[in-house]
Amino acid sequence: MAAQIIDGKLISSQIKDELREKTALLKEKGIEVTLAVILVGEDPASQVYVRNKKKACEYIGFRSLSYELPAETTQEELLKLIDVLNGRKDVDGILVQMPLPKHIDEKTVINAISPSKDVDGFHPMNVGALCIGEKGFVSCTPAGVIQLLKRGCDGKINIAGKECVIVGRSNIVGKPMSLLMLRENATVTIAHSRTKNLEEVCKRADILIAAVGKAGMITKDHVKEGAVVIDVGINRGEDGKLCGDVKFDEVSEIASAITPVPGGVGPMTIAMLMNNCYEAALMHMES
Ligand code: NDP
Repeated sequence: MAAQIIDGKLISSQIKDELREKTALLKEKGIEVTLAVILVGEDPASQVYVRNKKKACEYIGFRSLSYELPAETTQEELLKLIDVLNGRKDVDGILVQMPLPKHIDEKTVINAISPSKDVDGFHPMNVGALCIGEKGFVSCTPAGVIQLLKRGCDGKINIAGKECVIVGRSNIVGKPMSLLMLRENATVTIAHSRTKNLEEVCKRADILIAAVGKAGMITKDHVKEGAVVIDVGINRGEDGKLCGDVKFDEVSEIASAITPVPGGVGPMTIAMLMNNCYEAALMHMES
């Protein structure tokens, strides 16, 4: 039996359309949601990401402020700009596109963004809030995975009580993903490069989430019959085409549901970033 496809393009469009409607209502009250996007240097992939974020803002009806700084920008200059944006009442979210040039310390930059404007959800205060179950911004990719699980397969995927195995433990995907699945009452295992018997560990999963960054490393031998498989990986295969961490063709034969690459988790990240901006604006309205 072939797996049901969890369509990230469709679900992300639904989320963006919902935000567009809610944003129009805010506009009627004279409130404009504003995201400031900072890009340092001319990395082509980053330029594409930033362009897509600005396009999404435009579609939803947010104002986006764009700061495209030369690669030679010093850390001090970048921190100064962040400080100004932190202080501006008309700015709800601040996004600094990563990676930054080598002479700038990413941690220092992340820590400089006001937690109430940290729509990427990378600030230690927001990570800590997630850890202890308090309100805060959640990293967009794992938040998107939760929406795929909740909205995919006509809402029929149950998370509570399920065995969930996450392969990968990065600060932006694997770790927050594990905390979110725990918050949804899954029983969570995190696997990584030092995990022994990865196939066996993965085979325990009712929900398997791959966030490694290695093309096709998850095969049918890692997957239990009927499992739900979420592929976060974005890689270039030997043929140059985009592909995930999961061998889609063989795994979709035994999984009950699966996300494709492209068109699965990828489009969700921007949708959840937009959701965080909207939430930030609501929060700033109340304060
Ligand atoms: P990182 O490189 O930061 O982390 C990779 C993780 O995979 C590490 O925890 C590493 O373990 C683990 N790992 C590496 N090799 C193995 C192995 N052989 N077996 C088990 N675990 C292994 O990557 P990210 O978390 O940033 O990204 C992961 C993937 O997700 C990438 O393909 C990236 O492009 C994609 N991505 C997609 C996004 C989207 O919007 N869809 C957004 C963000 C990322 P260890 O900690 O032990 O080194």
